[in-house]
Amino acid sequence: MQFDSLGLKAELLRAISEQGYTQPTPVQEKAIPVILNGHDIMASAQTGTGKTAAFTLPLLQKLDSGKREHRLRALILTPTRELAAQVHQNLRDYGRHLNIRSAEIFGGVNINPQITKLKRGVDVLIATPGRLIDHMQRGTIDLRQVDTLILDEADRMLDMGFKPAIDQIVRSLPKKRQTLLFSATFSKEITALASRFLVDPVRVETSAPNSTVEAIAQKAITVDQKKKRELLSWMIGSENWHQVLVFTRTKHGANRLAKQLESDGLTAAAIHGNKSQGARTKALSEFKDNRIRVLVATDIAARGLDIDQLPHVVNYEIPNVPEDYVHRIGRTGRAGREGVAVSLVCGAEHGLFEDIRKLVKVPIPTEVVDGYEPTEPNSREAGKTNNRGQQQQRSARGNGSGRGNSSGRNNSGGRGNNAGSSRRGRSNSSSRRAA
Ligand code: AMP
Repeated sequence: MQFDSLGLKAELLRAISEQGYTQPTPVQEKAIPVILNGHDIMASAQTGTGKTAAFTLPLLQKLDSGKREHRLRALILTPTRELAAQVHQNLRDYGRHLNIRSAEIFGGVNINPQITKLKRGVDVLIATPGRLIDHMQRGTIDLRQVDTLILDEADRMLDMGFKPAIDQIVRSLPKKRQTLLFSATFSKEITALASRFLVDPVRVETSAPNSTVEAIAQKAITVDQKKKRELLSWMIGSENWHQVLVFTRTKHGANRLAKQLESDGLTAAAIHGNKSQGARTKALSEFKDNRIRVLVATDIAARGLDIDQLPHVVNYEIPNVPEDYVHRIGRTGRAGREGVAVSLVCGAEHGLFEDIRKLVKVPIPTEVVDGYEPTEPNSREAGKTNNRGQQQQRSARGNGSGRGNSSGRNNSGGRGNNAGSSRRGRSNSSSRRAA
């Protein structure tokens, strides 16, 4: 199918072709005509599938009446500032031949420039729920004419505790409106939210809910917690990875790992909720420009990051919530490109990883790397619950994982490309399926 059969106007088709897109992605093909027809939709679209264009293109068409209106008529809610900024950038790219005024509002930055923009008048607003409520309480925003509401990554907004904020926002909107809900996963909570906010929605599903993007090669490596950092540095050096997104569970863990990788001779930065907006933007742009090789992120900070052709994602720590795995690995293999997602699973994390396997329903091969054979007890085989497993992991970290810095084995980054190529054969031939 071609874009010009979707019913989009010439100005949008021109912008799409300037972006270099030749064909709509499946979610765009299904969602765009339904949205143009005025229906509410509930779309299960994974990250990287082109979902942003699936809602921004028909939205721009709806907003473009030919007149300069600049009345707030559409609201896009996103879970994070990064996602808000990315959606806004996409909207500007696709709307470049139209006269649509847009603004983004999120916390962590001065509110006054946002107030000035709102006063000048905008057609569409991209907002995180917390800062939007702030504007509502200050009386600096008028939502009375909003007739399109888009909830982007709704599952993540609920995970982040935004349900009361979303309820409050939706109560302030006109009842007569079009509502579009996008979510990577469809939990009971999402379905309940949809039944309250959407009217007779068309369900758009492009792949089985909770399945992972097919282009991503997934594997797990079993390794002791205290050897993870060394193995990671070695993999990056020996496999000659140049852009790696690494996930940790905690902000502190992200900071510590970024420092350790730096001491291993790898350029690295951490990105998480405690970092200022400036620091997050700087780290992200350095990573995108290949000036930083490793970006260490927590789940929330990484949500919605759009980095073209990101080839490697590493789960340094296994997420507590299995759905987070789907979000994490969705950072790679975007828009049909190939990607590799590697999960480093220590003894205490086997139970958590088993929950992930059940969710994604595709086989994930497990390997052991020579020199990094696991010695820790396997929480799953020991019949332990996830919670007990996590406690065990925490104590394992407290006892040993900090040793990496001073262990004297922290020279793995020094095994740069030359050393790496001589060892690469070893990695491949020595890796073996253990489960
Ligand atoms: P999203 O799922 O919205 O985050 O989009 C993921 C990536 O796919 C972004 O880098 C988009 O620029 C890109 N993209 C969106 N639609 C298309 C398309 N039809 N063809 C090629 N790339 C696209």
